[in-house]
Amino acid sequence: MDPANSKSAPTNSPKVLLVEDSPALSRLLRQEIINKVECDIVECRLLHEAISEITKGEITVAVTGLNLPDAPDGEILNVLARYGTPTILFSASFVPDLMLNYASRQLVDYIVKDDITSSARVASAVSRVISNGSTSILVVDDMMAVRSDLVAFLQRQNFAVYAAKTGAEALQILEQNREIEIVVTDHFMPDIDGFELTKRIRSRHGSDRLRIIGVSASTDRHLSASFLKAGASDFVYRPFLPEELQCRIDNNVETLRQLKRLRYVAERDPLTSLFNRRAFFERANKYMQTIEAQPHYGAISIIDIDHFKSINDAFGHDAGDEVLKSIGKILLDIAYEENLIASRLGGEEFAVLIKSKGDNEALTIVNKIVDEIRKTEFSGSLSEIKITASAGFVEINRHDELCKQLNRADHMLYRAKRLGRDRICTSLVSDDIEQTL
Ligand code: GH3
Ligand code: MG
Ligand code: MG
Repeated sequence: MDPANSKSAPTNSPKVLLVEDSPALSRLLRQEIINKVECDIVECRLLHEAISEITKGEITVAVTGLNLPDAPDGEILNVLARYGTPTILFSASFVPDLMLNYASRQLVDYIVKDDITSSARVASAVSRVISNGSTSILVVDDMMAVRSDLVAFLQRQNFAVYAAKTGAEALQILEQNREIEIVVTDHFMPDIDGFELTKRIRSRHGSDRLRIIGVSASTDRHLSASFLKAGASDFVYRPFLPEELQCRIDNNVETLRQLKRLRYVAERDPLTSLFNRRAFFERANKYMQTIEAQPHYGAISIIDIDHFKSINDAFGHDAGDEVLKSIGKILLDIAYEENLIASRLGGEEFAVLIKSKGDNEALTIVNKIVDEIRKTEFSGSLSEIKITASAGFVEINRHDELCKQLNRADHMLYRAKRLGRDRICTSLVSDDIEQTL
C-alpha cells in the first residue's frame, strides 16, 4: 500500500484563507462562501499578512488574487505552493500560461472575474474542495511516476487517496476500505488489465455507490466503449488536460452525492431520521440472509410509547412530534453505539433489530432504551410531559420469516400493554412463560 493511504479526514472546522486587497470584494466573497459551506474564514489584504497565516498551517483551501499591493508579480502563488496549500486563483483576467498549466502550479482551480456570478463560482469551488475531504478515491496504475502524479493531484483537491500498483492490490484495498467511492484505473497493467478489473469490481459494487473512471494512453478507439460497457462510469484517453480529469471526477462525485441524498430521503422517516418501515424490512431481511454466519442470531424488539394519544390531546400535535423526535434521538444514539437497525415502523411504534448479540446482551440494550425513554425530560412549555414505553422482545429464530418474528414481538408488546405498560415482555424461556422487568 502507498503512503497515500494514511490520509484521514479533517476533524476541525475547515479553515479558508481569503487573500484579496479590495475590502468590498473580500466581504462579498466571505458572504458567498459562508452561505455555501460551514467554515472559518481568515481574510488578508497583503502578502506579509497572508504569510503569517500560511505559516501557522491548517488551511484547508486558500482563495487568492494574483497581484497584491506588496506583491505585484503573483508572488503569493509561490508562497502558497511552497507550503502545499490547496489554492483557488481568482484573477481579473485569463492568464493562459498559468491557467492552462494550473495543476503543475499547485492550483486546485481558477476562476476569472468576468461576470457577477464569479464570486458564487469561487464559493462553489471552495465548497467542493472542502467536501472532497469526505470522498475517498483509489488510484490504480502500475507506473510509479504516473501513479504518484495522480495521487498528488487528487490530494491537492483534498480527496482522501489510496493507491494500488496492480489490479489484485486494488481489489484488496477496495475490500478493506469500504469508504472508497471512486476508482481511477489505468488499462495496461501486468496482472489484471483495467477492463477486467472494472468487470470484477462491478460484480460486487453497483454504480450507485462506486464510480469507476478508466484512463489509458492506448490508441485503440474501441477501448473507451469496452470500458463503459463493462460498467465504467467514464473513460479518458491520455494525454488529458488535468482540468478534464478534474471535471469528470467532480461530475461523478456530484452524482454520488445526489444519489446518497435521494437514498437518505427514501430510507428515512423525516420526523425522527430513523429508518422508515420499508428500509427496516429491507435491512432486516438482508441480515436474516447472513444469519447462519453470525455468532448469535440477535433479537427484535417493538417499542411503543404509552398513552401517546393523551400527550397529543393535552399538549398538542407539535408537542407529540417533539416526543417522537426525542425517541428518535435515543434510538439513533444507541444504534450508533451498538450493532442495530433502528426504525420508526409508523405512528408511535418503533422497531429495533439487534444484530449478532446473545439474548441477555440484546435485552440489556432494549432495557436501556426503555430506561432512557422514561428518563427523558422536556423543557419550557413541555416540561410537564413525562413519557414511558412498552416493548415486546423476541430472540431471532433462524427458521422463521421476518414477518413472523415481528408478529411474535408484537404479541409480546400487547402483553406488556395489558400488564400495565412501562415494561418489556419477552418470549425468552418459552412462549408460555412471560418475563416482565
Ligand atoms: P397505548 O399506550 O395503548 O399505546 O396508547 P396510545 O395512546 O399510545 O396509542 P393509540 O394507538 O391510541 O394512539 C396513537 C396516537 O399517535 C394516535 C395518533 O394521532 C398519534 N400519532 C401517530 N403519528 C403521529 C405523528 O407523527 N405525530 C403526532 N404528534 N402524533 C402521531
Ligand atoms: Mg499501465
Ligand atoms: Mg402507544
